[in-house]
Amino acid sequence: MPDNLIRDIPLIQRYAKNNEVDDFHFRAYLKGYLNMSNEKLDGIVKETTDRVWKQIDCTTCANCCKTLEILVDNDDIQRLAARLQISKREFTEKYIKLDDYQDKVINQIPCPFLQEDNRCSVYEDRPKSCQDYPYLFASEFRSRTLSAISNSSCCPIVFNVWQILKRRLWKRRRDRR
Ligand code: SF4
Ligand code: SF4
Repeated sequence: MPDNLIRDIPLIQRYAKNNEVDDFHFRAYLKGYLNMSNEKLDGIVKETTDRVWKQIDCTTCANCCKTLEILVDNDDIQRLAARLQISKREFTEKYIKLDDYQDKVINQIPCPFLQEDNRCSVYEDRPKSCQDYPYLFASEFRSRTLSAISNSSCCPIVFNVWQILKRRLWKRRRDRR
């Protein structure tokens, strides 16, 4: 049965802002009180993410590519330069800057490789940080809940997964009401 998902970004941002306190209480519950192994929790997050992602078409959204600063490493630069058939130096001059932490990032927001149809023009060679986004499949979700809260106001997949996890796992919340 399809989930009742929210996809509208302004609505998601309002909801995420209004529920910030609840989100941090749920985060504390996951980290300190939920009696469940990391493996089992990761399995639930993966299964929920798979289900939500099947119901959300990234090409109708592309909000991550439109609004986030994209981290790149030297392997990414080498791959992307080869794809564009330019030198690494040319690629770096044209597309890379250092952020406040001196990490390399794509120098434009929205990303210059995003096409008008919301597809990525370098998809097969996109940076590793794009391949991993929205970071819900990595192990030890319990240690990455801050990133989930932060990404939930940008990404409808993270937002909806987080809401489903809250409803499914946060028994104390129901007890309080
Ligand atoms: S990963 Fe999230 S923010 Fe990016 S396009 Fe897909 S739904 Fe939108
Ligand atoms: S490289 Fe592709 S996937 Fe990554 S932000 Fe740019 S358009 Fe999006």
